[in-house]
Parts: sequence; structure tokens; C-alpha cells
Amino acid sequence: MSDIQIVNAPAGVEGAGFFATSLDKAVGLARANSLWPLPFATSCCGIEFMATMASHYDLSRFGAERLSFSPRQADLLMVMGTIAKKMGPVLRQVYLQMAEPRWVMAVGACASSGGIFDTYSVLQGIDEVIPVDVYVPGCPPRPEAIIDGFINIQKLVKTETVRRRNEPQYQQLLASYGIQ
Ligand code: SF4
Repeated sequence: MSDIQIVNAPAGVEGAGFFATSLDKAVGLARANSLWPLPFATSCCGIEFMATMASHYDLSRFGAERLSFSPRQADLLMVMGTIAKKMGPVLRQVYLQMAEPRWVMAVGACASSGGIFDTYSVLQGIDEVIPVDVYVPGCPPRPEAIIDGFINIQKLVKTETVRRRNEPQYQQLLASYGIQ
């Protein structure tokens, strides 16, 4: 007997030969289990990400096997490493090139807050240039912590309504970053 498990069905109503749920939940389930990450790795945290993708930790178990190195075919931006201020506009451009819906994970102390590099040349957190959905602490975070952050992204994705990106609150969030 196989010990491979399938994802749990969302809450709904079921009976003989039918199962009904809301569109939000069905879309959320599909999105959360087929995320395409874009690894934006600039330094040591990127090495931990490589371990997270490799056979022992195997992020593909979460449906994220397909990494994308083009922002246009990615929906999860994973920022891992020290981001110099000169790199800020590049990171922002990558974010802008991603289609909605898109999510952002700041992996490690440097991406989250500048880390130990409290200096003139380093961005003190990527949320100075783009909105962040999940922060992963650690210098570096272990693969388990990266997976934990990924699961938290999946929780957000599963519970997001299909209309959220058109709502005024989301538009205001983007506007606060000068994004239309
Ligand atoms: S948080 Fe630590 S391990 Fe990660 S990029 Fe910064 S210095 Fe390197």
C-alpha cells in the first residue's frame, strides 16, 4: 500500500456522488499546491534554499518542484540573502514583472531586516521596496524553517479570496509602495 497522501479536501458539503465547496476554496487549494517559486538568492541563505530543494528536504513534496527563473512564470518570490541598496530597484522590477496573484517570502535575517549588516550600503529589509507576506527568521534559517515559511505562504494562499487583489485595501498596500 502506498503511503503517499493527497491533500485534504477543503470544507464543503458532500453526499452520495457529489461534493460542493466555494470557488475561493477550490482555487485556493489549487494555487497553494502548485506554487512556482522564483529564488532570488544573493548570498548564504541561498545555499540553505538549495538544501531545501534537494532530495532530503525536497520542497517538491509541497507542489513547488518547478522553480522559475523568469518572473513572468512565477507566483512566489523567495528573497534569500543580503540585498544591497543598489539591488533594491532590481528586486522591485522583478516583483513588478510577476503577474498577480503573487506572494513574497523574506528568507533569513538579511532579507527581513538587513541582518547583521546595519550599514549604509544594505537595504534594511526588502519590505522597504516591496510588500512581504511571510518572514523567515534565522541567519541562516535551516531548511525546516524555510519549509515552515513555505507552509505559512500556503496557508495564506488557501484562505485568500479570489477578489482580494481587486479590493481597495490591496490597492492601498501597493500604492504605499508607489505601485499602480
Ligand atoms: S541572514 Fe545570515 S546566512 Fe542569510 S544571507 Fe544574511 S548573513 Fe547570510
